[in-house]
Amino acid sequence: MTQAPFGTTADGTPVELFTLTNANGVELRAMTYGGIIVSLEVPDRAGHLDDVVLGFDSLGGYEKDSPYFGAIVGRFANRIAKGRFTLDGKTYTLALNNGPNALHGGLKGFDKVVWQAEPFTNDSGVGVRFSHVSPDGDQGYPGTLTVHVRYLLTDSNQLVIDYDATTDKATPLNLTQHTYFNLKGAGNGDILGHEVMLAADSFTPVDSTLIPTGVVAPVAGTPLDFRTLTPIGAHINDHDRQLTYAGGYDFNWVVRRSGPGLVEAAHVLEPTSGRTIDVLTTEPGIQFYTGNFLDGTITGKGGKVYPHRSGFTLETQHYPDSPNQPTFPSTILRPGQEYRSRTVFAFGVQR
Ligand code: BGC
Repeated sequence: MTQAPFGTTADGTPVELFTLTNANGVELRAMTYGGIIVSLEVPDRAGHLDDVVLGFDSLGGYEKDSPYFGAIVGRFANRIAKGRFTLDGKTYTLALNNGPNALHGGLKGFDKVVWQAEPFTNDSGVGVRFSHVSPDGDQGYPGTLTVHVRYLLTDSNQLVIDYDATTDKATPLNLTQHTYFNLKGAGNGDILGHEVMLAADSFTPVDSTLIPTGVVAPVAGTPLDFRTLTPIGAHINDHDRQLTYAGGYDFNWVVRRSGPGLVEAAHVLEPTSGRTIDVLTTEPGIQFYTGNFLDGTITGKGGKVYPHRSGFTLETQHYPDSPNQPTFPSTILRPGQEYRSRTVFAFGVQR
């Protein structure tokens, strides 16, 4: 584990970068700005390491107009319809930063704040623990919220992410991690050949602004059926209203589970490198987004351009717009309660 300066934000706050390395040479770099995972080098089937996450070489790139590359997203990941919700009889209004809706915590969400950080080691690996206190009224959300996010890199090539939070007033909360993966290596073309399995029998269909209609619909018979390993590109251009609304995959799948706890939500295989990811989570949903809004205008690490659909995210979370959807699992955190969530990204190879 090493720690080094990673520049200064536009408003003059110094940013630190932590480098975590495990016994197999897997290396993860994460910085205090946004808790962003800046790089992650994992082996292919020949043992060759490549950086498999999209991002920038320096802080400036992230500050300019990053589409949440590598970031912690909060207070509320995903969309809240019309930037408005009512909680305990009071209506709260949020900035509209995504057409008619609020997205990913607002104009200055958790992806854009400088977190406090502390490295740690335990029996299973090395890590860094990020902390942040979001003041009452931050981005329109009620309550002083204290948040911790822990990245642990284990010697079995797992990235274990633990979230916890407490509040002094009831508030919606939906935290996630927004890393874009390309298992061929960041900047090495599109992700359409990756094969994906989502452990989900249903999803939450959306309207044209990507707000859930409130229905939970089966994936069977739709291009959203990833119950068995399927290339991302197999049906992404099918004629389908949901795909048209989103310009590809950008939906919340309902994770199959028989009770609370950590369950497998996704498996990804990139056939040429052999690299795989297993995603396990305690969350009820997973947003699988295929980089449909990447359009080749972003130049990332090493001067490589990121074309259309050149990265995908697997954002474990509660369902979009939950504060306005009484039938969805609740996202309200109340004083005296502790928010706890865990997601594991386990990296491997298929031989
Ligand atoms: C959303 C996309 C959005 C992207 C921002 C994802 O979590 O699902 O709709 O465009 O974040 O980069």
